[in-house]
Amino acid sequence: MTGTDGTVPKPKKPAHKARVLAVGTDGRNQYTADRDARAGHRSATNSRSAGPFVGYELHLAVQARDVKWTNYIDKTTMSDEVPGVITCLALVPAGTHRGRAIVDDLVAAKKAGAPIDDVVWDPGYSLCKPDTTHHKLAQARIHQTFQPVSHQRGIRPFSGEALLVDGQLYSSLLPNELRDLPMPPRGAPEAVKVEHETKFNQRARWRMARHAGPDSDGATRWRCPFCAGLLKARQFPTTMRRPVTVPLVPVDEGRERCCAGIITAMPVELPWWQRIPFGTTAWRLSMGRRQVVESVNAALKGTFADLSRGFFRVFGQTKMTILLGFTVAGYNLDRIRSYRAKKRAQEEAKPAQPKRRRGTWQEIVEPATTTTTTDTGPPT
Ligand SMILES: [Zn+2]
Repeated sequence: MTGTDGTVPKPKKPAHKARVLAVGTDGRNQYTADRDARAGHRSATNSRSAGPFVGYELHLAVQARDVKWTNYIDKTTMSDEVPGVITCLALVPAGTHRGRAIVDDLVAAKKAGAPIDDVVWDPGYSLCKPDTTHHKLAQARIHQTFQPVSHQRGIRPFSGEALLVDGQLYSSLLPNELRDLPMPPRGAPEAVKVEHETKFNQRARWRMARHAGPDSDGATRWRCPFCAGLLKARQFPTTMRRPVTVPLVPVDEGRERCCAGIITAMPVELPWWQRIPFGTTAWRLSMGRRQVVESVNAALKGTFADLSRGFFRVFGQTKMTILLGFTVAGYNLDRIRSYRAKKRAQEEAKPAQPKRRRGTWQEIVEPATTTTTTDTGPPT
């Protein structure tokens, strides 16, 4: 047999088949003496190539800062720095569904009172089917920040008078040139990234603003950007009373109304919705919080402990999870100590407080209360 170009194709190597020792109660093959270990696939790193492996996968949730304020376009401010401690962990047999492995733990933690408002997903999780991850977390009132993959992007059908683009609702008047925006190629120079981001930032002005919800069914209500005061246009005279800072945009002649009123969206229509529109500068700043998990991964793969093959000299998911608990507790203490030391160093580096003001009303009217009290420890 010859190929179309006349060359003889190489004979295929016989595929290497691993020996199956038994089949577990979960119906999956068991390849090693550890009865809980399963086969999975791992992606490439600097030191090894991608391929199958037998063992476990560790899913971690790491504390990160909150988004304190954002203008949903190009500005995001974060809350104060927090120690990057591990708050949730799940050690599961390799090849277990990623979303299921950690989502239930996060929801349980929230129910138990952990202040989880937002999850910044790694790409591996956010591409899971929405009913196993996104909707479950959203129902528990946990917002998600993530980078949509290509099958989650683009224009989707939407029942109401709005456009559903890249998971977000936009005014149906959104200009055509802002509808399908590409992301910059990986490793693109800074100038190219900024150029792409500018388009996303422009588009964010056309977003529908959440008016209410979600209610107990997950339904949300949305107002168009002209009604919500994000944009103004000459065709809609009432919007022209908005401040000069609100951008004036051209709208097709003949449009008399900006919208038909507030619309309602059901959660099934908005699986990939994010509070900050995807692709904007504000979104990138929020997404940057993902870095904290990278440093935890590095620490657990070398700088603090090396959780590679042979770290745990026991078999079985339960035994390993117990031992892992000690490792993670040790790591968290290390993080807290380091955080405190950093804070102390910052306090010491601060310039001395300026002199208190003299001759204030308080000093004149209530002189007795101006004496400062210092805490001298327990009374003797
Ligand atoms: Zn409107």
